[in-house]
Amino acid sequence: MTSSLECDVLVVGGGAGALTGALTAATLGLDVILAEKTEYLGGTAAYAGAGLWLPLNSVSAAAFADTREKVDAYIAATTDGTGFADLREAYLDAAPEMVDFLLQDPSVEFHWRAFPDYYPDAPGYMPSGRAIFPKPLPDWAIGNDLVRLIRPELPLIRGGHDTGNKLRGGRALLGRLIQACVRAGVRIELEAPLRELDTRPGEVVGACLGGRDGDMNVRVRTGVLLAAGGFDHDIDMRKREGHPVEAGWQMGAPGSTGEVLAEARRIGADADLLHEAWWTPAFDTPLGPSFRVHQRGHPGSIVVDQDGRRFCNESLPYDRIGRAFRTGVLNGTLTLPAWFIVDQAYVDRYGLNGEPPRAPVPEEWLAGGFAYCGDTLDKLAAALGIPAENLGKTIERFNGFADAGVDEEFGRGDNAFDLFFGDPDVNPNPALAPVRTGPFYALPMVLSDLGTKGGLRADPHARVLDESGVPITGLYAAGNIMASWTGSCYPGPGAPIGSSMVFGYLAARHMVDRAQK
Ligand SMILES: Cc1cc2nc3c(=O)[nH]c(=O)nc-3n(C[C@H](O)[C@H](O)[C@H](O)COP(=O)(O)OP(=O)(O)OC[C@H]3O[C@@H](n4cnc5c(N)ncnc54)[C@H](O)[C@@H]3O)c2cc1C
Repeated sequence: MTSSLECDVLVVGGGAGALTGALTAATLGLDVILAEKTEYLGGTAAYAGAGLWLPLNSVSAAAFADTREKVDAYIAATTDGTGFADLREAYLDAAPEMVDFLLQDPSVEFHWRAFPDYYPDAPGYMPSGRAIFPKPLPDWAIGNDLVRLIRPELPLIRGGHDTGNKLRGGRALLGRLIQACVRAGVRIELEAPLRELDTRPGEVVGACLGGRDGDMNVRVRTGVLLAAGGFDHDIDMRKREGHPVEAGWQMGAPGSTGEVLAEARRIGADADLLHEAWWTPAFDTPLGPSFRVHQRGHPGSIVVDQDGRRFCNESLPYDRIGRAFRTGVLNGTLTLPAWFIVDQAYVDRYGLNGEPPRAPVPEEWLAGGFAYCGDTLDKLAAALGIPAENLGKTIERFNGFADAGVDEEFGRGDNAFDLFFGDPDVNPNPALAPVRTGPFYALPMVLSDLGTKGGLRADPHARVLDESGVPITGLYAAGNIMASWTGSCYPGPGAPIGSSMVFGYLAARHMVDRAQK
């Protein structure tokens, strides 16, 4: 049976940008329905640490001094002519305003902690970072009924954490936003996928949603905000757009399959940057990719290709090393998996892929083709099927760099970012230690991502543009469904969720203005 609904604002998607847009519109008096395709709210933010790169916000202002001039210089140097200047200005103008707006809600709390920007050599670089984080939230503070709505943590092998009875990181952000949305009167529909946008010439006036009890035709008085994520898991489309990836390498939540982007394009929306993603390498576990962002930065780790040779600075920020993987695969110099190699001293000091220090590498990893071990480097090379002579020479040279404290090949440890993730007790270079004490271990690394970031072209109010650059009345976009203001740059931790939230906020503000006219 098909039912009919009416609202001011329909939000499509249930991630952080969708919830921010819904909360903003509802708080400012609009009648909002939020429709999420899956059985959970949260999208990929549920897997995230939820750093939010929101320069010049009032929370981080209490921790360190920053200026718009510095931020502008940093962005100008790092985006390298890619991205969209009008969206960048809108983002930087609105980020502090959005934080203050959200903080008016008693459910929303942030704190600052250090996590550096990703381009340490750029002017305006902030070594302490520009990201804020949601404060953890005990389950009881929002109640089990709301906790159950949030997409569960990743399994431990994929980078999840056992957080007990507390929501942390992205799940804390989501819990806070969901509680605020419910209080503000947002009507939440789960398992309600957008099927079709309803249009009049040049205008979106509603949508058809699937539903647990049948389809729903929603008439929309003011606008539809598309915050349905990227096309992470549409591997055919990704290959068509030049992404050198295979199915199963993606870290994004399962709902990011791109059909909402396709539907917007069907009604005439323009798209750009479709070759782009928030890149990263990841360990290729039997349950899917594992992020483990700190692991590469610890000294005593090395990444080699299938010839047993290094091809990058292992300590690079994840998007930048991801781009090295991507470039290597695209130009034919790199075949994946690459191999992340450590020795017993590393395992004892830092642990492997989330296991605690000194914990033995799990038998099932070794038996199941995820982890490889060799008493000697020759034996490890044989297990990996890579040339032992090359691997031996590579590691001998690398160990020489570690002893001298200077990576003559890729400059690992030459900058503040590498040192942040290094080990201050390791000398002379905290980012470099030898790989010398057998047994030796290897994990396969593939090219993964935190979501695609090419999609709908939008204006500074988050209005979706048609192919002639004119806003489609009543249609808005936020997050990975949108062609990102960052272009091919990942300025610092929290740019993806930050972008989703800020453009969700801007869309809602514009819809509120529209509704009042
Ligand atoms: C391990 C990990 C750690 C990360 N850490 C960070 C971090 O610390 N900071 C940061 O900024 N980013 C981080 N990211 C990236 C970030 O989480 C995502 O890029 C971001 O959350 C994407 O937001 P979004 O709103 O565009 O989409 P999503 O969060 O993916 O939300 C989209 C939602 O729309 C729903 N949807 C899809 N199709 C439909 C449809 N047809 N109808 C209705 N709903 C639909 C989906 O099911 C999903 O719930 C991390 C990612 C991973 C994997």
